Amino acid sequence: MPIYEYHCPTCSNKFEKLQSMSATGADCPQCEQPAKRALSVFASISSGESSGSGEFSQMPVPPMRGGGCCGGGCFH
Ligand SMILES: [Zn+2]
Repeated sequence: MPIYEYHCPTCSNKFEKLQSMSATGADCPQCEQPAKRALSVFASISSGESSGSGEFSQMPVPPMRGGGCCGGGCFH
């Protein structure tokens, strides 16, 4: 489930709200006026604290293994 970042034009408050993809908006928790969605990030990428694997999103995809005889690592 994505976290949406909102910016309130009324009181300039910025907050994040966890919502479903179909959600259309959110109200500011401070002034309870409709806020504008600033951007959206996925919770698993943005926090990285809960699982400790946030850094791994930057790692390159490992080479395929199990394909062919030895994945190109040998000289037959
Ligand atoms: Zn507000």
